[in-house]
Amino acid sequence: FPLGGPEKILKLPTSPWPLEHITVQPGGSVQQVVLKKIQELSGTDNQDPFMVAHLDMLVSRHETFCRALPQVQPFYAVKCNSSPWVLRVLATLGAGFDCASQWELEQVLGLGVAPSRIIFANPYKAASHIRYAARHGVQLLTFDCEEELTKVAQHHLGARLLLRIQTQHSQSTFPLSGKFGASLEECGHLLTSARGLGLAVVGATFHVGSDCHTPQSFAQAIADCRLVFEMGREAGHDMNLLDLGGGFPGAEGSEARFEEMARVIRAALAQTFPKETGVKVMAEPGRFYAEPICTTAVNIIAKKAVRMPGGLRKLIYYLNDGHYGVFRIFLREAVPKIPIVAKEFLCKPPLFPCTLYGPTCDAFDRLFLDDVQLPELDVGDWLIFPSMGAYTSSMSSTFNGFQPAATCYAMSPQLRSLLETASSAGPALKSSHFLGQHHGCHPGKAEEPSSILRLESIVPQE
Ligand code: PLP
Repeated sequence: FPLGGPEKILKLPTSPWPLEHITVQPGGSVQQVVLKKIQELSGTDNQDPFMVAHLDMLVSRHETFCRALPQVQPFYAVKCNSSPWVLRVLATLGAGFDCASQWELEQVLGLGVAPSRIIFANPYKAASHIRYAARHGVQLLTFDCEEELTKVAQHHLGARLLLRIQTQHSQSTFPLSGKFGASLEECGHLLTSARGLGLAVVGATFHVGSDCHTPQSFAQAIADCRLVFEMGREAGHDMNLLDLGGGFPGAEGSEARFEEMARVIRAALAQTFPKETGVKVMAEPGRFYAEPICTTAVNIIAKKAVRMPGGLRKLIYYLNDGHYGVFRIFLREAVPKIPIVAKEFLCKPPLFPCTLYGPTCDAFDRLFLDDVQLPELDVGDWLIFPSMGAYTSSMSSTFNGFQPAATCYAMSPQLRSLLETASSAGPALKSSHFLGQHHGCHPGKAEEPSSILRLESIVPQE
């Protein structure tokens, strides 16, 4: 796979494995693992919330992404799920990384990932974080305004910049263009300013908003980037890199939506940036990789029944994880997630409108804006939420002293042995200058590889 920069070795720790990790046979589902764990916990004093991450799903997501968009290099968005195990698997598979802060840069660099495989894709960066990127050879940065250009010129003159543009009319669960992105009208001026400051702009980027529902948003943004490339060339920049950002749907059941999106993107690229242009294409998928890999189990710690106007019975369940734990993102979603009830009923039970609250003393601490329809349950029963890998643990807090669901990791023997080989053999990543030359910055000394991990079977080669 075309990865750039100097060859660098992955420094994966030989051990320890996560304190708790479960071996699953290929085809074994994460929900089976969760149910088994609930059974094990029953009768014990431990009813704490937990999450199971099935790491093999990252491998299949990576395969799917590379198959659907063979010309696009994925740079996984670390913010989405920054578990060291997620990063470790993706680093072993040869993915690149999108980091938003110094801490995220440290996580990824700490795995031995080459700086050329990292983009610092936050348009607004602290000066100290820019200096950290410069010191560690991370050259690819994004910007969308003049003030940021001045800052980058001051702290990281060797940077290779991508101009982030706004996306128009994108229908996404989490729109981003209100906060980020330059309008097309602003781009000409920004590109000239960058040139005047001695900065290299090498391409354009956008984000259609997380969990995008309109593939056409990608087609429109790609067409807009073409205009930015023309403006950039006129201003004297060598424009050669297009970054499609994130926004790809990730939840289980959204596979057809992703395939349709990939089809639209392939067509837009073929029309606007055909291969002959030599323009490299990358993306920053987050939830597409991480969302399906985790399933969360939460316990009902208290309940209350109330009568609604008209006499209808309504149930209020208090759970041991909530908005301040791993459910923080969901108050922004219009449609609540319907949990699986981990309880057997002799016959189909009647359903009641139920409000799901988290455990803290804040009334804002509810899982979803709307009620969900559930049967009458008891204190001690478990609710299971699939597709909980994106923006969950990475957004959680310990407000009121409640620990968010701890994650245990499941993997097949095959993946475990791939990771073990990677750790003990000191794999080198295939490098073919995806992101071009390094100039000005010198990443830390690379160790000599003792063997090369062959990833051809997993990652398509150019
Ligand atoms: N890239 C950037 C700059 C982002 O801000 C985000 C999410 O906020 C992502 C990528 C990942 O987006 P998603 O999880 O929708 O793929």
